[in-house]
Amino acid sequence: MSTFQELGVIPEIQRAVTELGFEQPMPVQSEVIPRLLAHTRDIIALAQTGTGKTAAFGIPVIQKINVKQLTPQTLILCPTRELCLQIAGDLTDFSTYVEDIKILPVYGGSSIDSQIRTLKRGVHIIVATPGRLIDLIKRKTVSLGDVHTMVLDEADEMLNMGFSEDIDEILSHLPDSRSMLLFSATMPKEIEKITRKYMKEPMEITIGRKNEGAENVRHLYFMVHARDKYLALKRIVDYYPNIYGIIFCRTRKETQEIADKLMQDGYDADALHGDLSQAQRDYVMSKYRNHNLQLLVATDVAARGLDVDDVTHIINFGLPDDYEIYTHRSGRTGRAGKTGTSIAIIHTKEKGKVTQIEKLINKKFEKRELPKGDLICEKQLFNFVDKIEKVKVNEAEIERLLPSIFRKLEWLEKEDIIKRMVSLEFNRLIEYYQQAEEIDEPKEGSSRGQKGEYGGKRGNDRDGGSRQPEKGYARLFINVGKMDGINPAMLMGFINDHVKGKVPIGRIDLLKSFSFFEVPEELAPRVVKSFKGMYVDERKLQVHLAQEEDQAAKGKKKKFYENDFGGKGKKKKTRY
Ligand code: AMP
Repeated sequence: MSTFQELGVIPEIQRAVTELGFEQPMPVQSEVIPRLLAHTRDIIALAQTGTGKTAAFGIPVIQKINVKQLTPQTLILCPTRELCLQIAGDLTDFSTYVEDIKILPVYGGSSIDSQIRTLKRGVHIIVATPGRLIDLIKRKTVSLGDVHTMVLDEADEMLNMGFSEDIDEILSHLPDSRSMLLFSATMPKEIEKITRKYMKEPMEITIGRKNEGAENVRHLYFMVHARDKYLALKRIVDYYPNIYGIIFCRTRKETQEIADKLMQDGYDADALHGDLSQAQRDYVMSKYRNHNLQLLVATDVAARGLDVDDVTHIINFGLPDDYEIYTHRSGRTGRAGKTGTSIAIIHTKEKGKVTQIEKLINKKFEKRELPKGDLICEKQLFNFVDKIEKVKVNEAEIERLLPSIFRKLEWLEKEDIIKRMVSLEFNRLIEYYQQAEEIDEPKEGSSRGQKGEYGGKRGNDRDGGSRQPEKGYARLFINVGKMDGINPAMLMGFINDHVKGKVPIGRIDLLKSFSFFEVPEELAPRVVKSFKGMYVDERKLQVHLAQEEDQAAKGKKKKFYENDFGGKGKKKKTRY
């Protein structure tokens, strides 16, 4: 294992990083630092966040600055304001003992005037988000003609966020002789395109294996009915009393809803998403960073750039459609030599995603059963007892009160006091879990009967549409279900009453507000036609192929389904 000195790092920077607690270079640093110092080739570094990549490019970049020449010599592009500030802060730390080096973070959402003033005074290193930099270029307040080193950090994320054209634009203002260093956690095709377009015979360095998740992260999944996802989340959080976690949701709305519910249920949680103002986001992030918040419920985009090293658990409240996002999420735990756990709470239809992600990260997920109530109580209890053992007693503060407290409790035995203390803390939790129904696990492959996501409103109980029909049969959807008081025999009678000729009916799946039934393929068009334009009470009947239903469910087609059958007056509609 090499030292920073052996890598060619100057004593001033060695001193600064030693003070930061860096004893030895991390692998990405050993690979990148000497190469960048030698300035021989462009470099592509496949490295996850948390591998020490900021110092890998930050240290040589600082070392290569000619402080006497007060023009931008290095440009670092990154996707978010938070990351921009983080990088600029880290570089400032590494250059504590390098005199007169000027580093400027340039990002949207803060005063452009003060950035322009600083630029006028002269800077050596610019750390920028693309939008604001382009703004400054257009105002001709920044000149990039002397930039000899360009770093593209979290390149995959920049493309995800739609910065591709901005990057093109910025690169056109740099001299051709500049060297380029690209960091990315993953290597999608779009990044390969960039590297072909802008890099000269780049050298590729892979820290860990390509597209592999961080080594020290365990991946678990819990499979539940969609309606039980929130209850499952609570159980998981309860099972890990010392969790310091991020819960990822797909949409801003879902993020806020989950955070609200957790807060209502007494958890130390808050939301982070794009509907909040910058000031609100800053507040939540700083609360979380300072450990004044245990659970951050976030969207992927809003959590970008939140750089926290000791996240213990990532919880995926459902899996993302873009599997690479999963690697970003799980890369937020297990950092800086610590171990971490990435948990996915999924419903049966997402099992396929687990397999795909396993291929991408080259690691297996462990399937777990939700912890039972008594186990959770036991875990919490022992954690509490552990805290009692370890709590720092502030003798000076309580000394005055102790004699009267001892007198008051004198009549109790030690065992009684312990029992009472524990009951005080735990009666509510124990009661909750005594009354809570166990959450049953859905059978794999069965995806019928899914209800609303948080155990609430009627939800997507239409999943049965994706079942394959028997050979020679077509599977049809009809918008009547158990809620309408029908049973299979009634449904068969209903069909045969309205379709000319005898129709053999195969499998029937009755769901809450609609159903599926199978008829011989050749008869399906006739059955569908027979119900066209038919009303039952005031409600228009819909009968069509189940695959169409499935497509609608996947959002390929916008579709409305009636929610109540036979109801008079205003019709309720649920949009999917
Ligand atoms: P990064 O991948 O740049 O986000 O770095 C992850 C974390 O590792 C940061 O908190 C760094 O301060 C820390 N770090 C970076 N290099 C080293 C090192 N050589 N030794 C110990 N910690 C480091």
